[in-house]
Amino acid sequence: MHATRVNPSQTSRGAIIIKLHLDVEPSENHLNISKDDISLFQKLVLGWAGQHGRSFPWRRARESHYRVVVTELLLQRTKAETVRNYYGVFFSQFPNWKALAQAPKTEIGNALKPLGLWQRKAPVLKQLANEMVARNGRFPQRREQIDSLSGVGQYIGNAIELLCQHRSKPLLDASMARVLERYFGPRMLVDIRHDSYLQALSHHVVDHDQAREINWAILDLGALVCRNRSPSCGECKLRMTCKTGQATTV
Ligand code: SF4
Repeated sequence: MHATRVNPSQTSRGAIIIKLHLDVEPSENHLNISKDDISLFQKLVLGWAGQHGRSFPWRRARESHYRVVVTELLLQRTKAETVRNYYGVFFSQFPNWKALAQAPKTEIGNALKPLGLWQRKAPVLKQLANEMVARNGRFPQRREQIDSLSGVGQYIGNAIELLCQHRSKPLLDASMARVLERYFGPRMLVDIRHDSYLQALSHHVVDHDQAREINWAILDLGALVCRNRSPSCGECKLRMTCKTGQATTV
């Protein structure tokens, strides 16, 4: 199964329809999502986050690129609340790329132990720090060069573009995928990274002058309301237009 292209076209109402063409049976995988529906979702999720969104130190405007990118690596498979508890301690010990690059791997590992996955994350962080010191702390501009950095997969690459280079990129992880699928409809492939529907949808959803805030709003909604096991559809501000919410609250 291979995704081939995303093809925008105009409807009689003037709305842009995003057509996702896949090399599979059209009845199963040919989807239409209007630009109006995307805009409404953006408005609703931003409105909800304005009242209920979470506050984290790495979301502060003055945080350095070093801190926000290292934090995104720390957040992988670790709860945000856990990372928040160790945020100050970790960055006091390793305040910049140079400090991280010069620290022994065991020291980084010990600092990461409360966060989990320290055996995997410590060498990745140290290698990335070495590369960033050699680059004088500047991330490359071109995506293929960003992707060639140690520890940078699709998610971290998007995070670097979104948080350091102010490009509208999605922080598409399992939580964002869950919210988008419940609201707009399910993906086709198991692997988020290769599902052209989720990839296209997430990019369109964050294509906004508040791209960072929309990303955070979706992640917060996924953590607080549209939870994995027990979504609170009855209390959700998006339920009137959410496919899952409509089905479960009638
Ligand atoms: S209505 Fe339910 S499924 Fe839809 S976004 Fe809200 S919590 Fe998630």
